[in-house]
Amino acid sequence: MTSLEKLSEICRSWGGRILHINKGLFKNFFSWRDAGPGRVLLDDYSDAPFTSYVGVNHKRKTIYIAKPDVNPGEIVHEMGHVFATNKAPEQTEEWVWFGWEFALARKTGCIKQWMRSCNLYQVGTEALNGSTKDIIDFGGLNVKDRRKVLLERLDLALHHKLITSDLEPLSVRIS
Ligand SMILES: [Zn+2]
Repeated sequence: MTSLEKLSEICRSWGGRILHINKGLFKNFFSWRDAGPGRVLLDDYSDAPFTSYVGVNHKRKTIYIAKPDVNPGEIVHEMGHVFATNKAPEQTEEWVWFGWEFALARKTGCIKQWMRSCNLYQVGTEALNGSTKDIIDFGGLNVKDRRKVLLERLDLALHHKLITSDLEPLSVRIS
């Protein structure tokens, strides 16, 4: 079973789904940037700003993919938007559920791909210098610092009951 298939199965077990759609339909769903004539601007759909052709509908617990060779790491992040928070993507604090993402990537065998998809992810430096204000690209950290950041985030995810003590990711969606 591929990582993507495993992610899809977990989505279903949490009452959601991953849908593969074509690019035309995707553009209609996620056209907030350029809702021109003939384009439908739909509420509740948010696309991933740094990756094209991946998006979510938080309310419907649905992740949309409209490209053939998607990195499963990107889907791990999008699943976070749907299952690791009760808040819609515009209001969520992604940094709170970074450890949850790691746990899900680990469970589905795509840690390397997930790490690659996080290269430009802006991480806080709490674990490195105690500051809650500084941010840095995850991809710019050395292995030791990545480890520190991940451990601190796993601790936080555990604290927020997003994962179990044996790193099992949980869904927090109550509706
Ligand atoms: Zn995001």
